Amino acid sequence: MSVVPRFPSMPANPFWSHDSDAAAAAVAALVAWRAELAAWLAGAERDDALSPALATVLLELVRARPSEEFRRFAYRLERMPSPEPPTDPCECLQSLLLWRAGVVDFLSDVWDTLGPAPFDIEECQRAGSLFTPIDSDGGGLCHLCLEPFAGAPSIEHFERCAVQRAWRDDGSASPRA
Ligand SMILES: [Zn+2]
Repeated sequence: MSVVPRFPSMPANPFWSHDSDAAAAAVAALVAWRAELAAWLAGAERDDALSPALATVLLELVRARPSEEFRRFAYRLERMPSPEPPTDPCECLQSLLLWRAGVVDFLSDVWDTLGPAPFDIEECQRAGSLFTPIDSDGGGLCHLCLEPFAGAPSIEHFERCAVQRAWRDDGSASPRA
């Protein structure tokens, strides 16, 4: 049985870091992860962890080339960016993490609908674990920006959350709004 690819470990407070070397290493790890995840999603080892429909959505987001049928999915799901050098590694990492946050946000509530949901909560949780850094399973991090909570998750964090701020600055609320 093949190992499920896990989202790589990230530098502490990745949105606020100005450590270019750490950011470049994290970007390289994400590029490697992307290829592993695409192969896993397309392969037989995926078994029944995810429905074919959800696996197809995730595969479209990470595959090297979109399929002919690719279109923007609901919410604000976008294909994983492929920043080109000489992009600043810190900016590059931020764009990748903003993309990740959009996927995580989608998975956190796509099942929570009034009508029939396209995906069930269990498979969304399993899919969410694919986007959770390998060393943060114990929680204690904002699921969107990966900043450690000083205490309990709070409204203060919402105000300073780099992802929430980026979405607000972008002129649109979070994808769930
Ligand atoms: Zn946050």
